[in-house]
Amino acid sequence: MEKEQALKILTDLIAIKSDNDHESKVADYLTDLFAGYPVKIERVTYAPGRDNLVVTMGDHGPLLGFSGHEDVVSSGDAANWTYPPFQATIHDGKIYGRGTCDMKSGLAAMVVAMLDLLNSGKKLPGRLRLLASVGEETGEYGAAQLTKEGYADDLDGLIIGESSNFNVRVTHKGIIDYYVTSKGVCVHSSTPEAGKNAIMPLVAFAQKAQKLMDSHQKKDPILGSLTHVISQIQGGTQINSVPDNAWLSGNIRTTPLYPNKQIMHELEGIIAELNQQGAELSIRYSFPEVPLPSQAETSLAKFASQVVKDELHRESNFVAGTGATDASEYIQADNDFPIIILGPAPEETAHQPNENIPVADYLAGCELYQKLAWRFWKEYKEK
Ligand SMILES: [Zn+2]
Repeated sequence: MEKEQALKILTDLIAIKSDNDHESKVADYLTDLFAGYPVKIERVTYAPGRDNLVVTMGDHGPLLGFSGHEDVVSSGDAANWTYPPFQATIHDGKIYGRGTCDMKSGLAAMVVAMLDLLNSGKKLPGRLRLLASVGEETGEYGAAQLTKEGYADDLDGLIIGESSNFNVRVTHKGIIDYYVTSKGVCVHSSTPEAGKNAIMPLVAFAQKAQKLMDSHQKKDPILGSLTHVISQIQGGTQINSVPDNAWLSGNIRTTPLYPNKQIMHELEGIIAELNQQGAELSIRYSFPEVPLPSQAETSLAKFASQVVKDELHRESNFVAGTGATDASEYIQADNDFPIIILGPAPEETAHQPNENIPVADYLAGCELYQKLAWRFWKEYKEK
């Protein structure tokens, strides 16, 4: 594909305002690009205006997955941007706009690679599936839906095109965001024995939870320790009333040594214990995301890093991620397959004003994904 055409796909995607919603417009645009090609296009609706898109090409051979999310984070205060966030601007060899880094560049580069393969006229020796998800930035529920509905079950490997500066991100922590609410009975504070203070059991929970999480001292060699922060606490309405409600929130970053299931079980154990003593506590979670266990020993990680070196003559090291990705969902698929994160954008400007990617990196990404697919089909061997 001509450079201009590849760039147009990225700039068109940036112009689609899919900040935390309206991903269907991205799905529409990509669907149009694939129209007329021998591909299978599936729309998986999460909510009105929010469609995941799955595009599968090829009819036999190993199946490689390309994953990208259609949403972007909010642009925030427009005054902090030198360039308009939803209109790509090229300046000094860089493309500016919301999603240039996270991750419409990765998504666009994957699509360009697929179109180039379809246009090559060659008989394809394998299959490729694009998994374009909704809501990655607000809980990865698009990828969760695709996983649950089986779209990852037949994959032989998956590459997530999040920014990694051509390094291979082989692991990242998981996240458990939780809320604990406490119920009591409100009475005048001069007769506390007639009521039930909602704050006190919540404080007991906070102390027990902190102590238990702090006792988890085993360190993952790459990701380090599990962390736990009680981040918000609120309760009561008036100084001379016994509070009948209180709540707190906590954020835990998990590692493979302390799986989400175990940690959630532990938190629920504290709740059950306190409830037995008369508290009325309940816990809920907001889109927990499991850690990605290290993929450093997988053939896919080694293969992909080698392809970057061979084809782009660039460095490509194994690195750890700072946040969760759609990998947290796909790793829970029924089938076992390696997942790596490998994208063209440098990570520095994700979620920031003046988010950008060097034009050369984006174009190198387009080339890389095409080479990766081709070599995956021809030479990749699972261990
Ligand atoms: Zn992202």
